[in-house]
Amino acid sequence: MKRSIACLLVAAALLAGCQSRPKATAAAPAAPTVIAELTDQNVVWECPKCGMDYDAPGKCSMCDADLEKTNVAYICPADNAPVDRAGKCPRCNMNARVVRTAAADVPASPGTAAPASGAANGS
Ligand SMILES: [Zn+2]
Ligand SMILES: [Zn+2]
Repeated sequence: MKRSIACLLVAAALLAGCQSRPKATAAAPAAPTVIAELTDQNVVWECPKCGMDYDAPGKCSMCDADLEKTNVAYICPADNAPVDRAGKCPRCNMNARVVRTAAADVPASPGTAAPASGAANGS
């Protein structure tokens, strides 16, 4: 009795393990969405032509220009220290300044560093 139940359990476990997981459908690159007003974004993609901000890389929906990655920081004008989000500084209640800096165009890919292509292969 017990043995057969154990066997069933093992079989079930094996079956479950073998089932190929439904792959998460590779998300088609959704069109970037316009950010109407910055709140707490730390990075946006800005259209170099019309200055619209988007939440993802891609092309500007207005003028089809390639969006440029831009770092956004919120700086309190009183003490020049960064705050978490746009709007009032939690320390002194002044409106934080939005400071944009062009981001390096190296995509931030955590972990995986692409292996150098074409290893030197003697003469
Ligand atoms: Zn544009
Ligand atoms: Zn402040």
